[in-house]
Amino acid sequence: MSRNEQLFERAQRHIPGGVNSPVRAFGAVGGTPRFFTRGEGAYVWDADGKRYIDYVGSWGPLILGHAHPAVIDAVERAARNGLSFGAPTEAEIDLADLLCELLPSMQQLRLVSSGTEATMSAIRLARGFTGRNKLIKFEGCYHGHADSLLVKAGSGLLTFGNPSSAGVPAAVAADTIVLSYNDVAALEQAFAEQGNDIAAIIVEPVAGNMNLIEASPEFIAAMRKLTQDHGALLIYDEVMTGFRVGMQCAQGLHGITPDLTCLGKVVGGGMPLAAFGGRADVMAKLAPLGPVYQAGTLSGNPVAVAAGLATLNAIRNPGFFDTLSTNTRYLTDGLRALATSSGIPFSAQAVGGMFGIYFSANAPQNYQQAMQSDREHFNRFFHAMLDQGIYLAPSAFEAGFVSAAHTESDLKATIAAAQSVFSVS
Ligand SMILES: *Cc1c(COP(=O)(O)O)cnc(C)c1O
Repeated sequence: MSRNEQLFERAQRHIPGGVNSPVRAFGAVGGTPRFFTRGEGAYVWDADGKRYIDYVGSWGPLILGHAHPAVIDAVERAARNGLSFGAPTEAEIDLADLLCELLPSMQQLRLVSSGTEATMSAIRLARGFTGRNKLIKFEGCYHGHADSLLVKAGSGLLTFGNPSSAGVPAAVAADTIVLSYNDVAALEQAFAEQGNDIAAIIVEPVAGNMNLIEASPEFIAAMRKLTQDHGALLIYDEVMTGFRVGMQCAQGLHGITPDLTCLGKVVGGGMPLAAFGGRADVMAKLAPLGPVYQAGTLSGNPVAVAAGLATLNAIRNPGFFDTLSTNTRYLTDGLRALATSSGIPFSAQAVGGMFGIYFSANAPQNYQQAMQSDREHFNRFFHAMLDQGIYLAPSAFEAGFVSAAHTESDLKATIAAAQSVFSVS
């Protein structure tokens, strides 16, 4: 038995499924999850001492790669001054100021500890601000695991073929209207019929939890216009895309000013930190100023804030996203060219430092099309790549991430590994 297998067996004794978040269990792809002992730059090492080029990056946060010296240094310095106070600190203001400077749509924000908290709080705020209950989300988009958002969601729910969760009261789910991504007509119809009851649209502006699907320009424009016309709020859930697709996030690429934005992942640099914010008149409804309650013992944690600040400062260089985008595109172009020349139905796309691959001839535009891609082929590809030391997300429905630590030779080694896999599959 390998050390990974021993650990997985032991883990299942006291942890359900042996993992603290479902997709980590390799349920969709089969096999034994890798237990990691160390990460450095683009690489991770598992419990058996095998090295992998990592394209998961802790599911998105590690845009600088593992254990980046500037981030580790900032964390060490912050930790020595105390792990938590439950009282305000100056660094929180620095981070809030920086985020508001980088994202013009954010006039005010609040720090929380996970993407789930950010979206859950943004929705409560949208409901409190508008005095309405209904929420529009799109099939295959994942916004964390709060009850009203666990309806036809992506990520682990797709991986396990279970787009809604048990334990969510029907009455809660009834206020969530689920529409198809990129379907403008359905959106128009929903607002025509229920426009006065809709508090908000929440959307992944680049859907990364059903692998990678870009929102069309018409869809983006319709979301902005319909919410504005009907007094509803537009919430950009940029937990994944924030500082991953560009320094002004997806909203910068789209030229859109959302009413509220959720951030997470990159913004915490690998520590538990997230944020939600936006229009000052909306944020003024939050306690202690207003009637919408939201709180957190560890919110704005000084160690997490230090990691976030160090990460954002390191990626602020002009040209950072040009290089990252070029590298990511180099990978997807390389994979697509190889698959095509082997006659394998395959599509690949990249936005900034995130990428998606599907074993289907055309790039899917919504959840239904994503589900038609060849999952069995993905699973074979995943395991063959894993054997060759390439760590991809263990699911056909999760985006991949390239970090600034991935060198040209890492990318070439990845493409070479794929070449040997495609040539026999
Ligand atoms: C990861 C993710 C979340 C949830 O964040 P957690 O920190 O895992 O709670 C929410 N929205 C999107 C778009 C995400 O990718």
